[in-house]
Amino acid sequence: CGIVGYIGEADVKEILLKGLEKLEYRGYDSAGISVRNDGELKIFKEAGRIRDLRDKVDSGFHATTGIGHTRWATHGEPSVANAHPHQSADGRFTLVHNGVIENYEQIRKEHLSEMEFVSSTDTEIIVELIAKFSRDGLTTEEAFKEALDVLHGSYALGLLDREDKDVIFVAKNKSPLLLGKGDGFNVITSDAMAMLHLTNEFVELMDGEVVMLKKDGITIRDKAGNTVERDSYIAEIDE
Ligand code: GLU
Repeated sequence: CGIVGYIGEADVKEILLKGLEKLEYRGYDSAGISVRNDGELKIFKEAGRIRDLRDKVDSGFHATTGIGHTRWATHGEPSVANAHPHQSADGRFTLVHNGVIENYEQIRKEHLSEMEFVSSTDTEIIVELIAKFSRDGLTTEEAFKEALDVLHGSYALGLLDREDKDVIFVAKNKSPLLLGKGDGFNVITSDAMAMLHLTNEFVELMDGEVVMLKKDGITIRDKAGNTVERDSYIAEIDE
């Protein structure tokens, strides 16, 4: 239902929880965050309110990169196992997803028939597909792009890679997602409202583009792999 993400210098847990609280008005059945520091990727999730999720988050884990999600279940009942972020079985990637993957069963049969799944979502196949393409030797950007080429349906995605702490990978198709620019940080959000306490400068993202979000820059590539330059705009909304 909603997505937030942040890469910068500040304590990301608090930023994500606050962003998710601002998305609560949209409705959701569960929520979670994934945060990354040097070499470790952690997930905290809860079926219920953001304040219950807050109680589960290990406040001692220092991290400045992370993604968060509120879920409105489409595939699989509301539960902690089905809440996002989802992590690949090899532990390397975590992913948040809004939307619906129409061909997820076909992808599972064609590409991931050996795999055991821990959730009943259409989302878990995406993170396993990326992990598989990565084990096949692709860079994360290539593996992400390759996975997007296989997906049919709607999605807004944020991906963390345990092996690359400096980037959040981002893409969308027929689901809303914005890039937000800050001074020494950047964000993603499905709804400008959730990040207005940090920035009101946004960059639009188009279907089919792949984004590498870093704390000091945003790289957008189109389907052909060309770098896209796009001006930001100021959102005139009251917080
Ligand atoms: N289809 C995904 C699920 O059921 C994402 C739902 C959403 O957009 O919140 O987990």
